[in-house]
Amino acid sequence: MRWLKELLGLEVSPDRTTEGWHSGAEETRARTTAAYLAAVGQRAGVAGALVIPRPEDYGSALAGTLHGFPLQLTITDVGSTTGALGLRYALAAPGFDLEYDPEWAKDVADDEHEAPHRVFLSPNIFVEREEADEEADAFRELPAELQARVLAGMVTHRIRYFRSRNDELNLTLWDEPRDATDAVGSMVATLLLAADVARARGATPRGRAAKQVQPRHPFKGEGTLQQLGSAFAGTVAAQVPGSRVVERKNDDCIDVRWMDGRSNVRLVINLDEVELHVAVLADGVRGEVTLRYDPEVSIEQNVSDDDWDRAHQYVFFGPSTFVAGPEAIAREQAAILQAVPAELLDALVAQMSSLEIGEVHFANGMLRACVFDLNDIDDDGDAALVFASVVARVAEALPRGTIGAETRGEAVRCGYCRGLWFVSAEHLSCSNCGASA
Ligand SMILES: [Zn+2]
Repeated sequence: MRWLKELLGLEVSPDRTTEGWHSGAEETRARTTAAYLAAVGQRAGVAGALVIPRPEDYGSALAGTLHGFPLQLTITDVGSTTGALGLRYALAAPGFDLEYDPEWAKDVADDEHEAPHRVFLSPNIFVEREEADEEADAFRELPAELQARVLAGMVTHRIRYFRSRNDELNLTLWDEPRDATDAVGSMVATLLLAADVARARGATPRGRAAKQVQPRHPFKGEGTLQQLGSAFAGTVAAQVPGSRVVERKNDDCIDVRWMDGRSNVRLVINLDEVELHVAVLADGVRGEVTLRYDPEVSIEQNVSDDDWDRAHQYVFFGPSTFVAGPEAIAREQAAILQAVPAELLDALVAQMSSLEIGEVHFANGMLRACVFDLNDIDDDGDAALVFASVVARVAEALPRGTIGAETRGEAVRCGYCRGLWFVSAEHLSCSNCGASA
């Protein structure tokens, strides 16, 4: 229901995903970057999205392809864009470098005798230098509708330079994501605009993208399930530095195991069940939680008059994403999940709905989830690796030591969907349906 309200301008939910960049804790900042990049990747529809730590850039990078073009997006752990931002491709047509200068005023510029030759495409957007006319012509080759969108988008999303060159389309922004009011939405719109221009100009994806245009179905090739599983494990392991493949003969599983930060992670290719699982150890965490995602659960059916009432409670942490059980159990599960930073829990919830993961189960110090039927995998394991990296961060964030059933605050019942949810600084509207508290 939130989308409807937003559409009508009744409610704009505040973007809290980026608050962690202002934290004094290095770990929180790093997690914020990872969650931000994962959110951008998901909302933009980046294929094979993978968040990769880039210590050399003091942050992380989002890898994957957008409309087939390899993406370049590096964000530092203080929420700035000092690295590459844009798409890589090959393009034979002449390039253009658009510049947006919100401060530019015609009367000032006219006084500059030595001003470079500029061709204005809108009051504050121009191309300059000797080739300005050629660059303007190249821009005007775009469909009129797309030209208009680029010019408007540069202003809305504060894009300082929009450069379509022969080997890449790269962008420079006026504002850093940490200062943006809608940091995810603005970045997503900017990248999609870049991809539309690359496509409209007839650019050819190059490098990694060429391979990824055709989806791979690693379990639909020639060979026995065992052979396909071994080959897939090798492909996954090749992408994860420091990983190793372990074939477990006793239970017909092939593991790819590695460390992600402080977490022990493994991808389990279960040949017996024909499923791909992700498991992460969370040493020292007690209790048990099953976070479920079920798109059929949209309205609470079991409501009696009292909150936290007897038999079976649903407590929502995202749309159709909930813990359920008798009050005491639901409370205990909610208390454990509340220890996870909101942006991280949101990233987990987003992954569950986009990959249609029915449940993430935590028990006996291990988080695990069935991610795919092996027959449904259509990449080199990229989607499962992104999910695993989110689960690894959740594992690190889970509370150590004894957990009571003490939740932070009381759950409130939504007036629309009747689901229970927790009001917090990060969630001011119903976690399930988006209605205001
Ligand atoms: Zn609701």
